[in-house]
Amino acid sequence: MTLDRRNFIKLLGGASGLAIAGQAAAQAKAGSAAVSAGSAAEIMPKGSARRVIVIGGGYGGTIAAKYLRMLDKSIEVVLIERNKEFVSCPFSNFYIAGLMPDMKALTIKYDKLTANHGIKVLHAEVTAIDAAAKMVVTSQGRLAYDRLIVSPGIDFMTDGIEGYDAKTPEIFPHAWKAGPQSALLRKQLQAMKDGGTVVIGVPLMPFRCPPGPYERACLISSYLKKHKPKSKLIMLDANPDVVSKKGLFTKAWNSYYKDIFQYVGGQVTKVDTKARIVVADNFDEYEVAVANVIPPQRAGNIAVVAGLTDDKKRWCPVDAISFESTILKDIHVLGDATLLPSDGGAMPKSGYSANSQAKVCAINIVALMNDKPTTELSAINACYSAVSETESVSVSHVFKLVNGKIKITATAVSPIDFSLGKIEKAYGESWLKNVLTEMST
Ligand SMILES: Cc1cc2nc3c(=O)[nH]c(=O)nc-3n(C[C@H](O)[C@H](O)[C@H](O)COP(=O)(O)OP(=O)(O)OC[C@H]3O[C@@H](n4cnc5c(N)ncnc54)[C@H](O)[C@@H]3O)c2cc1C
Repeated sequence: MTLDRRNFIKLLGGASGLAIAGQAAAQAKAGSAAVSAGSAAEIMPKGSARRVIVIGGGYGGTIAAKYLRMLDKSIEVVLIERNKEFVSCPFSNFYIAGLMPDMKALTIKYDKLTANHGIKVLHAEVTAIDAAAKMVVTSQGRLAYDRLIVSPGIDFMTDGIEGYDAKTPEIFPHAWKAGPQSALLRKQLQAMKDGGTVVIGVPLMPFRCPPGPYERACLISSYLKKHKPKSKLIMLDANPDVVSKKGLFTKAWNSYYKDIFQYVGGQVTKVDTKARIVVADNFDEYEVAVANVIPPQRAGNIAVVAGLTDDKKRWCPVDAISFESTILKDIHVLGDATLLPSDGGAMPKSGYSANSQAKVCAINIVALMNDKPTTELSAINACYSAVSETESVSVSHVFKLVNGKIKITATAVSPIDFSLGKIEKAYGESWLKNVLTEMST
């Protein structure tokens, strides 16, 4: 699916953004990925120090910025993030299901990254990247870089869902970016009458956090079982089967939520927010009290605008050692937005993966900037998912570089009888606390 001109301009704010958007749209049409920084005023002029700019203060960007500074203090690091605070998607399903009073435990600030590591944090929207001039254009002006890291997370591809427009998430929230969307879904669940139908629409892979929708199904089912037991939760899954931890999730659905939860194959193809109807490609039509439609995903808008995505305009191909884009030189991409060369199972689009990738990327950017040898990735992804209020399960993989491609070299999955469920819940909570502390201090 392509980003049309209307949407392209919509995602670039401000007058200078529009000038660049026009230019970039024309270039994109002509098949060129180059975008000119145009006439935007330069801010934070670069002195003699080498500078790395990081776009996106989430799971990947904060860690890359911090490790760059920890590894080489002579490099100036500017982190550009649109929001003043970051809200974690991991554990937001607990909040949605009413198991956390608020999102405080999921929210981090950026001030200590400046105080402790000297990272310059700029709160602005990045609207374009001029790879030739090595300039980033923001809502506040343009900035020069020597190397650039892009970790913008995901945006949505909604063209394939009839009736889906910019207002749809205000009525049928995706809650696939944590914050106001999570609050809306929780509010709707709490406001619905007992006996209503809730639908979760799962997109085709690849998407951010493969086990996320299934964990959400468990926690919302648990909420309904306790507070609205006459209600139903239907999961419409566009994938041929459950894509993550299948045995563990199906065990939970069959043993805990049989009377509430139903897993149905089918891709959401149409929504009608006025009639409150969700239609699937198997022609099933559901009248919903609450609809959590999670649209298909691609790299964050800025990666598409900058020409960092592949010919499908979806994910950003990168080198598996330095995470440098294979399309644009001196630009590195991290986290959900990446398309990594893989042999077998790809690294999941997870916060854990983004964190591991950010460290390898930072080590190798410092090596490249100092003419030192690079280091090959050796990383872990451990992914905890709740199956009930008190029990979690996990799957862990070790990834290594084999012949230039990332390969799974070891896997561990929780026991099917949930005998470690309580302790794994504690491990998951501890992982969240550690990772958010690492991102914000
Ligand atoms: C419900 C749910 C549960 C999850 N649970 C887990 C879990 O348990 N464990 C796990 O490991 N992962 C989990 N994930 C996945 C995890 O959230 C993502 O994989 C992770 O956030 C990816 O990191 P990132 O750096 O690529 O993107 P993000 O963390 O989303 O960071 C991107 C940042 O870039 C900023 N940005 C984007 N574009 C611009 C721009 N143009 N200008 C300025 N700023 C910009 C955004 O505001 C954002 O702060 C879950 C996801 C969901 C939805």
